[in-house]
Amino acid sequence: MKKKHQSKTEGSRQARRRQLSRRGFVKATGAAATVITAGFGTSAIGSTDLPKVSEDDPMAKALGYVHDARKVDAAQRFSDRFCNNCALYAGKADAEWAKCSIFPGKVVAGEGWCRSWIPKQEQ
Ligand code: SF4
Repeated sequence: MKKKHQSKTEGSRQARRRQLSRRGFVKATGAAATVITAGFGTSAIGSTDLPKVSEDDPMAKALGYVHDARKVDAAQRFSDRFCNNCALYAGKADAEWAKCSIFPGKVVAGEGWCRSWIPKQEQ
């Protein structure tokens, strides 16, 4: 009888340990998911953390990119064309810097310009 009781007690201890380790697993995976989500969140909104494209970058030079569009000769650029009203500019119109698909991993100036400028579609 005593042996049966011990066996039952040991069985409930093991069940309790399994339950605790399941809880530990759930806690650990939950914490990992939070860290991963935070990481994605940072990369999604962290475009201003990206380096600014250099005007000396070979692609920038080839496209005549400049940080200040007003410095471009009027014969080459219409005065109302800036990165911040280009269809490839990923930022809001008032964003100082934002991503541009021409320069992956970098940001361009909202008041910049290059020869690949295309008009933003009205919505
Ligand atoms: Fe600026 Fe548009 Fe040229 Fe990109 S493609 S650098 S947003 S003008």
